[in-house]
Amino acid sequence: MKLSRTTALIISIGCAMFGALCGGLGAILELYVLEFIGLGLALLGAVLTLIFHRCPHCGRFLGKHVGFPAYCPHCGEPLDD
Ligand SMILES: [Zn+2]
Repeated sequence: MKLSRTTALIISIGCAMFGALCGGLGAILELYVLEFIGLGLALLGAVLTLIFHRCPHCGRFLGKHVGFPAYCPHCGEPLDD
């Protein structure tokens, strides 16, 4: 299965947000299982971002360029999905 960059970024943002929600609820309710699930989801979101938020042409990480830039800031190639 091949994920597009945009799909992977949306999934990673969703994982991070849902992970933060689970972690917060786990802390409030003192449910450690919920905190670990939240931590796992947040880590999954970070790993997906590190793997898929890259330029398909030069392979460099798009890092601080949050969102869906139209062109790679490193090589200038268009970032179509
Ligand atoms: Zn590039």
